[in-house]
Amino acid sequence: MKITIIGAGLAGSEAALQVANAGIDVDLYEMRPEFSTGAHKTEKPAELVCSNSLGSFDETVASGLLKAELKILNSYLIKTAFDCKVPAGAALAVDREGFSQTIQNMLENHPKINFIREKINKIPKDEVVVIASGPLTSPELAQDILDLTGENQLRFFDAIAPIVEKSSINFDVAFYQNRYGKGTDDYINCPMNKEQYEKFYDILINSPKIELKNFEKKFFESCLPIEVLASRGTDTLRFGPMKPVGLVDSRTNEENYAVVQLRQDDKAGDLYNLVGFQTNLKWGAQKELIHSIPSLENANIVRYGVMHANTFINSPKILNPTMNMRKHPNIFFAGQLTGTEGYTEAIAGGLLAGLNAIRFAKGEELLELPETTMLGALTHYISFECQEHFQPVNSNWGIINKDGIDRKILKNKKIKTEFMSKRAIETISDIMSTIA
Ligand SMILES: Cc1cc2nc3c(=O)[nH]c(=O)nc-3n(C[C@H](O)[C@H](O)[C@H](O)COP(=O)(O)OP(=O)(O)OC[C@H]3O[C@@H](n4cnc5c(N)ncnc54)[C@H](O)[C@@H]3O)c2cc1C
Repeated sequence: MKITIIGAGLAGSEAALQVANAGIDVDLYEMRPEFSTGAHKTEKPAELVCSNSLGSFDETVASGLLKAELKILNSYLIKTAFDCKVPAGAALAVDREGFSQTIQNMLENHPKINFIREKINKIPKDEVVVIASGPLTSPELAQDILDLTGENQLRFFDAIAPIVEKSSINFDVAFYQNRYGKGTDDYINCPMNKEQYEKFYDILINSPKIELKNFEKKFFESCLPIEVLASRGTDTLRFGPMKPVGLVDSRTNEENYAVVQLRQDDKAGDLYNLVGFQTNLKWGAQKELIHSIPSLENANIVRYGVMHANTFINSPKILNPTMNMRKHPNIFFAGQLTGTEGYTEAIAGGLLAGLNAIRFAKGEELLELPETTMLGALTHYISFECQEHFQPVNSNWGIINKDGIDRKILKNKKIKTEFMSKRAIETISDIMSTIA
């Protein structure tokens, strides 16, 4: 018995470890380093292509609940992420190098995994296969997926944020603090007064961008380039990524007009990314913009922001909530390619596709998770047939099934999320005790 997995990203690596640890042989194909995606910078599996944060680990936050469920379901990548954690308040941010290296060691040293550095152009349609080639799937494979699914569109566009060296930040101006003083002071804040913000805004709005063709101008709303957000109004950024609320500079005891936040990007704490600054500006313009931020006048920019293609299938027409195709039940999809958005969501899809590929190979009934859990809600959402204009989705409370919840509970947001979180964790624990 053997299962083929295409793509050793977040979803593919998780799926491979699930399958291999169930005692089944895995052929895991990864096209890097010979072929690049444009966004990946290394040859390592499970590379985090942009931010080093997997989002909140607070169980009463939607993405935190998904992590809690994945922990119970024995996710190898989530466990590794916690092992490689760097300080970031309530967010699970990781040392990206250490994280990918650990996963690489696990894959390469596993006796059941045959880790093959090769590009797949055609899906092996007669095998049990998990396609986890991600948002930057190679064009030939994307074409084969289109042929297999009978659809005619797979791509839209996303942006990634720049990274600067901490030693080049001016701490006479910048200060450490988490919003509302929560947790330890993990974020570096670059404060701006009104005049500085207006100068920054002026540069941003007038900066040259890399020209996109018309068909490329479709962004995912939760990953909008900063210049697109800025174009929606002078103050949009001050209510978004540059929100000053809850960030009081202890030296002045005042809130500022706007704040740029920087988050640790590597274990050593030498590199910091500009939170929410994903951008499509030309590199010269990015330099001018970043250097206009108080305390970053001399910042050494180690990575510029860039734009990239994003690929996803029309899952509502193609997939079951068990992650396999309705027409070809031996073919599973996982990760961003299925129309979930986010690192944790990609790992989650990989885990469920891996578990169900095992069951399919063994001739067992597939595992369909209830919509009262975050992972079940996500997989049901993407595979819900009646959606007209399918767009990628993050974990969120809106997709959880609320049938049967007392009205009094539903009225209070805090009580409601606590209730749904507790119920989901109990449900996943019960399921785990029956399948483990
Ligand atoms: C530019 C960009 C920035 C993003 N930033 C964030 C972010 O900051 N935070 C967040 O939560 N999410 C982000 N995402 C969304 C998403 O969470 C990540 O893309 C995540 O890596 C998706 O995981 P995946 O396993 O589906 O794909 P990937 O991690 O990309 O893995 C797919 C793998 O398949 C390989 N591959 C592709 N084609 C072939 C082939 N033909 N044969 C063999 N191998 C192949 C690729 O090389 C890659 O290693 C971003 C996405 C993009 C495109």
